[in-house]
Amino acid sequence: MAGEPRSDCLFCKIVSGEVPATVVRETETTVAFRDINPQAPTHVLVIPKAHHADAAALAAAAPDVAADVLREAGEVAAQEKVAETGYRIIFNTGAGAGQTVFHAHAHVLGGRGLEWPPG
Ligand code: C5P
Repeated sequence: MAGEPRSDCLFCKIVSGEVPATVVRETETTVAFRDINPQAPTHVLVIPKAHHADAAALAAAAPDVAADVLREAGEVAAQEKVAETGYRIIFNTGAGAGQTVFHAHAHVLGGRGLEWPPG
């Protein structure tokens, strides 16, 4: 069922505490933690606690939680002090776009120059 935890999902295991993560923020509906393979001085992932495969599925099934994820991405940027210099919120969606974990997550990247278009 949409939103139910999945035993085969790495990020569901981070939500439950079964897999450790460096959590920087948590709300009733979201968790934000440092990416284990950071691509910028600030690289934090914001995820919904409920399982949804990607950002589009999350927005379709739980738009309020999708809004929570976006708001938290902004809060992370402020907390990490990258909001003033600029940062990027990225949802890789689909394997062809580089998505490797199929539990919706926003990458918050900042603290260095970010080129456009992204690779
Ligand atoms: O967008 P994509 O699905 O590729 O992002 C998954 C991200 O999850 C990667 O940046 C990877 O480094 C991160 N990750 C993590 N902690 C884990 C496993 C993966 O932060 N235990």
